[in-house]
Amino acid sequence: MLGFAGTRNWVYLQHIDGAFQRIRRRTFLGLHLILFGLPWLQIDGNPALMLDLPDRRLYSFGAIFTATDTILLVLVLLFLAFALFFFTSLFGRLWCGYACPQTVLLDAWVRPIERWIEGERTTRIRRDSAGFSWARAGRKAAKWTLFALAAFVVSMSFMSFFTPTRELWSGNASGVSYALVGIFAAGWFLDFTWFREQFCNYLCPYARFQSAMTDDNTLIIAYDPARGDPRGGKDAKKDGRCIECSKCVTTCPQGIDIRDGFQLECITCARCIDACTDVMGRFGHDSLIGYSNLATLAGRRTRFWRPRTVAYAAALTTIVAVGAALVTVRVPFEASVSRMPGSLYTVDDDGWVRNTYLLRLANNRPGASQSFTVSVEGITDAEVLTPTVELKEAEGRMVAMVVRAPAIAATARTLPLRVHVMSESGERVLDTTFKTAAGGSGP
Ligand code: SF4
Ligand code: SF4
Repeated sequence: MLGFAGTRNWVYLQHIDGAFQRIRRRTFLGLHLILFGLPWLQIDGNPALMLDLPDRRLYSFGAIFTATDTILLVLVLLFLAFALFFFTSLFGRLWCGYACPQTVLLDAWVRPIERWIEGERTTRIRRDSAGFSWARAGRKAAKWTLFALAAFVVSMSFMSFFTPTRELWSGNASGVSYALVGIFAAGWFLDFTWFREQFCNYLCPYARFQSAMTDDNTLIIAYDPARGDPRGGKDAKKDGRCIECSKCVTTCPQGIDIRDGFQLECITCARCIDACTDVMGRFGHDSLIGYSNLATLAGRRTRFWRPRTVAYAAALTTIVAVGAALVTVRVPFEASVSRMPGSLYTVDDDGWVRNTYLLRLANNRPGASQSFTVSVEGITDAEVLTPTVELKEAEGRMVAMVVRAPAIAATARTLPLRVHVMSESGERVLDTTFKTAAGGSGP
């Protein structure tokens, strides 16, 4: 089957087990629990983790963040970006081999299904090269049906981080949500059936820019030519040299030969290590392939702290410190004030000047209602007529707010006014203006 530039050879992957594959399977299990379990978890009646785009809310483990917390969201994104830089500079593409959704789903779902329905590597090659038969077509149809089902379930679970899970799975979510599930599922189906390793090689942005974050000290997977070469020959088994069995190649999901040296296509899945451990172990030798780095291979000492890791660590520390400070002073409600559209001021019978505003309030305190009281400062004897406002959890409301001030306080046509919105969870201070008749003929 052809890929980009007509150069693709279909990878018929050989199954392999071993110590690193067992670690990967445990990682996959944890990630599956997050993908399929977390959307069903609720804290105080709210999703444990969900980004509600229409209402611009992020539910995150008991906290509710809204548009006014955008700075925190920016900090979280910056933290994730620098954490990725830091991690990549140390451990290279470990993410790709152990935690990338593409890798996890291919190894946990697609390849086991393929093996179960179409047989082991040699059987699949033989059957595919034999041309059309109804039995082969039936096996392909069964495999693709299961891939479609897997793509649908994965897409629904992914969408559950953006739409209430029970609504989505009971068919009561919006049409947009199901349209997005359809688009995601189609993408995954294409990936499962055909695209596979080409995504890593041609499309993945992380794979493209990670070379800028790595250096000679970054963890890679490497063949040891000092022990393995010269390859083959009748004494190779006895000497512990490479016996040219090619098992490290046939078990590689990227279809590369790691013995040719470090290659950008390598996702550090360690399948070749387990393959060579299995082969060389039969002759009493250690694997010729293992985790290493270019510095070690060149006989130099590995350095953990180097300019780039120091810079990334400093950036992470700064982001965490700023984020912690912001979270400490954060109050769990939104408040904004604006003048009532089309109104300037009125003069009451008692001569006091009256201004009307729109006060917008939103309670973001998880699992609790809040009551809000408003006061003003900046104008002598000014009073607020707005009563105390009570909002249920996650409720937002717009209320009219009236401020009155004695005429004697009207020293200018526009006076600065500071509004204090207080609740049991904190206070927000808002600035606006108060219009008066001073020096003018009326509103
Ligand atoms: S070379 Fe080894 S670690 Fe790299 S992708 Fe292939 S099997 Fe995985
Ligand atoms: S699995 Fe080991 S022995 Fe076999 S070809 Fe690869 S490096 Fe050589």
